[in-house]
Amino acid sequence: MTTAVVVGAGPNGLAAALTLAQAGVEVHVREAHAQIGGGTRSADLTRNGLIHDVCAAAHPFGIASPYLSSLPLAAHGLGWAHPTIAASHPLDDGSGASLIGGTGTTAAALQDPNWARLFGPIERSFDDLVADVLGPVLRTPTSPVRFGQFGMRAALPASAIAKLLRNESSRALFAGMAAHVIRPFNQPLSSSVAALLIAAGHAVGWPVAVGGSHQISKAMASLLESLGGQVTTSDPVTDAAELDADIIMFDLAPGAVARLLNDRLPPKVRNSFTRWKHGPAAYKVDLAIEGDIPWTHADGHQAGTLHLGGSFAEIAHAEREVCAGRMPARPFVLVGQQYLADPTRSANGINPVWSYAHVPNGYTGNATTAVLDQFERFAPGTRDRVVAMHVTPPADFERYNANYVGGDILTGANTVGQLIWRPSRRMNPYGLGLEGHYICSAATPPGAGVHGMCGWHAAQTALADLNSTLR
Ligand SMILES: Cc1cc2nc3c(=O)[nH]c(=O)nc-3n(C[C@H](O)[C@H](O)[C@H](O)COP(=O)(O)OP(=O)(O)OC[C@H]3O[C@@H](n4cnc5c(N)ncnc54)[C@H](O)[C@@H]3O)c2cc1C
Repeated sequence: MTTAVVVGAGPNGLAAALTLAQAGVEVHVREAHAQIGGGTRSADLTRNGLIHDVCAAAHPFGIASPYLSSLPLAAHGLGWAHPTIAASHPLDDGSGASLIGGTGTTAAALQDPNWARLFGPIERSFDDLVADVLGPVLRTPTSPVRFGQFGMRAALPASAIAKLLRNESSRALFAGMAAHVIRPFNQPLSSSVAALLIAAGHAVGWPVAVGGSHQISKAMASLLESLGGQVTTSDPVTDAAELDADIIMFDLAPGAVARLLNDRLPPKVRNSFTRWKHGPAAYKVDLAIEGDIPWTHADGHQAGTLHLGGSFAEIAHAEREVCAGRMPARPFVLVGQQYLADPTRSANGINPVWSYAHVPNGYTGNATTAVLDQFERFAPGTRDRVVAMHVTPPADFERYNANYVGGDILTGANTVGQLIWRPSRRMNPYGLGLEGHYICSAATPPGAGVHGMCGWHAAQTALADLNSTLR
């Protein structure tokens, strides 16, 4: 029987393992941490009984993923819950802008028909488009016209898209979406993640996983075990020589793969992997709140995700600063109120609130006050409702998960080069040029997010190689 070892039980490692197990391969997943899941874990970070997502919180990519949605994960405990409003963006004057329903509804609320003109076509073709967009960049799309519509928007700098929008509110809403790519707004491809998040928000929503994001990885592991796969935790791989299987799959950052395989890797791959650049970091502040956050803008009370940062110009400035390695006075802050859609996360009137700021890679300062100040700016009185707090600075993220080098939660900087050629300049990005060895982490296409598509593509490569060897 063909055997495989997958190193790392993040969503991509588990997706690779499942794809291989579905093809009849005997799979063993080895996870360094005491819990599976990588970026999809949850814990009572602030208080017993409260469920906080440690990393990923909102799952437009999870619900849209062609691979995850093909799996019977509901039968293994995964349920999605949708907040009334996917995402909202409060402004200083007490107004705000929100991603609600389809592009038509949002455009009407924004009083900006250009929102619908820009994003309507990709919302309408979302189901077909997603298979192309969540694939490797360098290949022929199945629907070139739809892919082209998406590509034209994705390729533009965020600052160029902002010029096409008609008012400050829609530009601010777009800025919050664009900031997810963590890249200066005047550079090409800085609209890429925004285009996808907006289209997904309008087409399928931004759900949370009922009971916490760890339900995603738990359901995947449960399905894997039902297919005969094995998962071991607290089982770090420190020496590649201990790995003995026909297929060896790394759900790791390129630098870690280079260290493990060292001179067994072809020099070109090893050089790319050791030179792989990591991007800005997350500085996370989880709060236990008495009641709700007192948002001034009413939509905040119904929004699963909020973007705190003010105007387009202000967020553009904050993102430029963190990308240049400088800490802005007012960082861009993302907030998650998963409990609104999923009340099982709260206890005794105390609710868990998830937030993190973009800060420079390896930032060692204290950003907690800056994060709380952004809350107070749009929800005066927030501090008075905080009954417990848990802070995760960049160094703790790296200790928690070796893939988050310097606190980089995307497993690699989104430079143009790394967005197109990831993780090295090879036509097949998943193979390592070493027989039977593959990389499947978010450093490979299509990149960060809980969609499992990197793992699925990597496993398909491994299976194709296996078939051609057997032929
Ligand atoms: C704060 C934060 C917020 C985020 N928010 C979102 C969000 O809302 N929505 C979204 O879609 N995505 C979000 N993401 C991104 C998402 O979590 C990641 O892109 C995704 O988890 C990447 O999956 P992966 O399988 O490639 O790697 P990971 O999830 O990083 O998993 C890698 C696994 O490998 C293990 N490992 C590392 N080294 C070894 C070793 N030597 N031996 C064995 N095991 C090892 C790690 O412990 C880990 O479990 C967020 C991430 C963070 C940190």
